[in-house]
Amino acid sequence: MDDKTNDPAPSRRQIVGGVTAGAAMAAVAAPALAQTQGSAQGGSQGAALGSGTGTTPPLPLAVPHDPRDAYPRPPFKVQTQAAPGLAGRMEPRPDHGEASYRGTGRLMGRKALITGGDSGIGRAAAIAYAREGADVAIGYLPAEQEDADEVLAIIRDAGRKAVALPGDIRDEAFCNRMVETAVREMGGLDILVNNAGMQRAQQSIADITTEQFDATFKTNVYAPFWITRAALPHLKPGAAIIITASEQAYDPSAVLFDYAQTKASNVAFSKALSKQLAGKGIRVNAVAPGPYWTALQPSGGAIPAALAEFGAKTSLGRPGQPVEIAPVYVLLASQESSFTTGQVFGASGGGGFP
Ligand code: NAD
Ligand code: MG
Repeated sequence: MDDKTNDPAPSRRQIVGGVTAGAAMAAVAAPALAQTQGSAQGGSQGAALGSGTGTTPPLPLAVPHDPRDAYPRPPFKVQTQAAPGLAGRMEPRPDHGEASYRGTGRLMGRKALITGGDSGIGRAAAIAYAREGADVAIGYLPAEQEDADEVLAIIRDAGRKAVALPGDIRDEAFCNRMVETAVREMGGLDILVNNAGMQRAQQSIADITTEQFDATFKTNVYAPFWITRAALPHLKPGAAIIITASEQAYDPSAVLFDYAQTKASNVAFSKALSKQLAGKGIRVNAVAPGPYWTALQPSGGAIPAALAEFGAKTSLGRPGQPVEIAPVYVLLASQESSFTTGQVFGASGGGGFP
């Protein structure tokens, strides 16, 4: 988990009564603002919001709303899943923008590959990219097919090509194949989002096996290297590479000793590679999220008991929902940020770095 909630120290519980007000506002305004791009967006994948459980229509973007109450606040139900976890089994279900993200053609005709695009932050980016006009290929583990199927349907509903790339990115040969397949199926590549990640919380360094340490580094550090190296020959001037780092790169939790080191590595990836690729007209940036409500957390990323207070220590008193960070991925991929390279964008609900 990516905030201090994962630290064993007790956290300050911040519960406000505003959820009711926020939910009521959404319920009133949502029908007028519902997406009209296809049934999948407003159907079973509709946002599941509220306080801990239940469903609430997505908040309308046209109406200013209090960010403290915009999405579920702790306490959350303590829940666990086997890794890699499924977004579809979380309570409440994360909001990836299924019913709310509206595109304005900012990525029209682009071709994007997003690793870990089945759930969480990658899924929110995939939905946003498709609705901004991009074809989208998503990488994911075979065990996540049911989450991936939902995303693929949403991409197609947006009128874009969807490419499914199941497989394990800890395998270099698979990484090479994944890129080649994405390029072949979409007819090129303009945007690469290295987003897949593994996080396993452990109270002590003594509890971290060599297998865990190796898997965390293979997934979070080696794979972006392999995937980016394979993608590079296909990227032309104007292309964008984005890597999902974390606030853990700057302010690590005690229980994320191995993970935090990989995320610091992701920041260096973006800083060094941006200098290298500027001469080719390719931009490279990193996103450093704070705590987001994703399948990563109940599937070993968080100490289970700490999940109840997940996000409570942010300034806004709650975790982010994946949809809330999707616009950062859109901006970094689009021509609008043409002078932005080698940067790290934070979105942590207050506090944290950068
Ligand atoms: P998530 O579990 O929804 O997404 C991670 C995805 O990584 C999985 O869906 C899976 O498809 C993919 N993945 C993991 N191991 C893989 C493997 N061996 N082969 C292929 N794919 C694999 O969780 P998320 O929180 O959306 O994570 C996305 C990124 O965000 C990760 O890099 C994570 O480190 C980072 N992040 C998350 C948070 C947070 O609080 N959720 C905070 C900061 C950074
Ligand atoms: Mg997943």
